[in-house]
Amino acid sequence: MKAMRRFTVRAHLPQRLSALGELSVNLRWSWDGPTQDLFAAIDAVRWREVSHDPVRMLGEVPPARLDELAGDSEFLARLDAVAADLADYLTRPRWFQGQVAAGTLRVAGIAYFSMEFGVTEVLPNYSGGLGILAGDHLKAASDLGLPLIGVGLLYRSGYFRQSLTADGWQAEQYPALDPQGLPLRLFTDQGGAAPVLVHVAMPDRRVLRARVWIAQVGRVPLLLLDSDIAENDPELRGVTDRLYGGDQDHRIKQEILAGVGGVRAVRAFTAAHGIAEPEVFHMNEGHAGFLGVERIRELITDPAGGLDYDAALAAVRASTIFTTHTPVPAGIDRFPADLVRRYFGGTPEGGELLTGVGTERVLALGRESDPHVFNMAHMGLRLAQRSNGVSRLHGRVSREMFAPLWSGFDNDEVPIGSVTNGVHAPTWAAREWLELARELIGPELVAEARGWERLQEVDPRRLWETRNMLRAKLVVEVRRRVRASWLQRGASDAELAWTENIFDPDVLTIGFARRVPTYKRLTLMLRRPERLQQLLLDADRPVQLVVAGKSHPADDGGKSLIQQVVRFADRPDVRCRIAFLPDYDMSMARYLYWGCDVWLNNPIRPLEACGTSGMKAALNGGLNLSILDGWWDEMFDGENGWAIPTADGVVDEARRDDLEAAALYELLERSVLPKFYDRDATGLPVRWVEMVRHTLQSLGPKVLASRMVRDYTVGFYAPAAATARRIFADDRAGAKAVAEYRRRVETAWAGVAIVQVDSSGLPDTPEIGNRLELRATVRLGDLSPDDVVVQAVLGRVSPDDELTETTIVPMTWSGGDAGGQVYVVQTPVPLSGAVGYTVRVLPHNDLLISDAELGLITTPHG
Ligand SMILES: *Cc1c(COP(=O)(O)O)cnc(C)c1O
Repeated sequence: MKAMRRFTVRAHLPQRLSALGELSVNLRWSWDGPTQDLFAAIDAVRWREVSHDPVRMLGEVPPARLDELAGDSEFLARLDAVAADLADYLTRPRWFQGQVAAGTLRVAGIAYFSMEFGVTEVLPNYSGGLGILAGDHLKAASDLGLPLIGVGLLYRSGYFRQSLTADGWQAEQYPALDPQGLPLRLFTDQGGAAPVLVHVAMPDRRVLRARVWIAQVGRVPLLLLDSDIAENDPELRGVTDRLYGGDQDHRIKQEILAGVGGVRAVRAFTAAHGIAEPEVFHMNEGHAGFLGVERIRELITDPAGGLDYDAALAAVRASTIFTTHTPVPAGIDRFPADLVRRYFGGTPEGGELLTGVGTERVLALGRESDPHVFNMAHMGLRLAQRSNGVSRLHGRVSREMFAPLWSGFDNDEVPIGSVTNGVHAPTWAAREWLELARELIGPELVAEARGWERLQEVDPRRLWETRNMLRAKLVVEVRRRVRASWLQRGASDAELAWTENIFDPDVLTIGFARRVPTYKRLTLMLRRPERLQQLLLDADRPVQLVVAGKSHPADDGGKSLIQQVVRFADRPDVRCRIAFLPDYDMSMARYLYWGCDVWLNNPIRPLEACGTSGMKAALNGGLNLSILDGWWDEMFDGENGWAIPTADGVVDEARRDDLEAAALYELLERSVLPKFYDRDATGLPVRWVEMVRHTLQSLGPKVLASRMVRDYTVGFYAPAAATARRIFADDRAGAKAVAEYRRRVETAWAGVAIVQVDSSGLPDTPEIGNRLELRATVRLGDLSPDDVVVQAVLGRVSPDDELTETTIVPMTWSGGDAGGQVYVVQTPVPLSGAVGYTVRVLPHNDLLISDAELGLITTPHG
């Protein structure tokens, strides 16, 4: 009979095994081999049956077996060793503590907000790259000892599970998860009896409540808000039902809960555990942007003396970091302004959610060119003094994309930086590689990204054997998954004998797995099906191709791309060499990154902000074959893989795809295949293995999440904490001063003008290095010379009169009178050719981090 309802009962462990409880809920097991081995040792068969999930394992193993283990001295010795290792991991000073002790870093705490977190497949609270990145961020923060707290939502059904219909169409399932059966603990009050609830006001006097689950990611707590509780009315109970499901109204409720409720959860959590309040709030993408509104409200309504709105905004900006993740306009989160108005008030003072803030002010934070639209990325940029893209190229693209928010500035002056994403090696590198690294350099150095050059000492044969072993594992996994998929699509066992022989452990294996938005071009490889078929079936030098990816449920275009691949892979003549594996998730991804020789990525440049799957492949000695986009644009060095030439400037999309697909086939035939199949007398592909070694050596240290988190810490968290301390000191005098300054400058700016610029000093035929003297007369209106900087800008004049290759030289104030303030400079001519100059005035204040920050600028013409 079918169960009406399901719930999970946690096992009662014998006293002597109680450490297993902690080991099962601290997600450090997900990147620690010895802990996984310990759970496997309880019952190897069951460990596979429960999909390597320690909490389920403990729930399902019979009590008799546990009693037996409680008397097994060998098991107990292992248990004690693993438990001691976890205790050591959780307490020993790490990189961050070393920096603090040395006086080089100071940050009291960081709260990291994200709509999704992919820590392990056991906690399916992610859809793709953004979530996995957030998970890797927490893991690396834990490894480095950062005082970081993660904040997000717990979804009843996570993202969907994908399967295929008989004709290759994507089908979605939403199995409900029972939090009791997940590696989570409930955040309760002091007595431990009642869950702590977070309250958020909703329109029409309703209240959304959420309990808070804690996932322990090594040293880092991850707070996950869950609205599925009896205290909510049925509609509000469903707020955290699915990730990226539902309409705009549903979505804004989720984002309000994550942002506003998230801050409230952090406050309750830090108070209950006596840990420091975060000094820095990091928005991983704009979805959690309402956290800034809540923090403004906190500062305005602070019983110990509230700030006005402008000062509160200054304080929040100083301590907020915003990371943007997409250059695709459709990927940016936007709401109808009226929807925001409905949730954030309706009255001029704003609703309860906004006590003291004011609806129009919130709307102004998300303003864009269309007045009916509220833009979460714009809000992120306005709430964060520091913001960044996720690769160097994406930083550049973001500065261009968001340049209208800083009009008058050149793109390269838009204050958006970049931190290139990274991946967590202990999660994504195969055990074989981690063991090799440990042998060569020791575990700490792996986390700190040093010592990779010692790979030089490793015998090429060992590298090749490892690659072969990992490819063979992938082949077994492909066969298993293809068979399961066909059974699911309605085939019978008797028809599926062929699946036992598909794929070959010795054939060059290419992987392509990712979400299926159009720009990623899942079907580029199918552009000329007959050429792909030739490559697959070549008698001497074949390739095999494994493809995976989910399409957003509402995206029929994406689903039809999947169907094209599935239909091709279904063909009896090629199905031995190409497979589409349904339900791409972390548990599958791992095998792909381990086993693929080549990782293929062919997005439309520059729409891939960073991409991380190729980094995971590289950590396993997989060679990237990719368009020069995202991370690959900065890390491809000519020897560590291949760059697929792009048809830049070709506007006809079909023609561009034709050209780029042809370039891809060419590269495979001319370079990739020969390198893989050229063998020496002992069967070793010498040139290939050298590329593998070079990839591990050159990319290994750069693609690490620990490198990324150190970059954030040194370049963003610590500077933000320092600014915030200045701003908050002396009863927030700095915040008030910034607010006062900003108000004054914004009001007076219209009165700033450059009245006259004179130049002198150059001979009739100037040469490089000759000194140019400039003298500018500037009218400052109600401002004083202390409020501004005046700069000379010299550069090359382009045909359309733009200055490029500019040099910026500060000018010196030399007094003033009723006609204006006079500024002078003497500067060498920096280049030859068509040289030009201009003068500009910008606001300047020591409490701001850049003169571009306020977006105000005056030039002679504007
Ligand atoms: C790494 C990863 C992604 C993101 O890969 P991209 O290269 O950014 O597309 C998506 N899904 C899973 C399961 C991953 O492991």
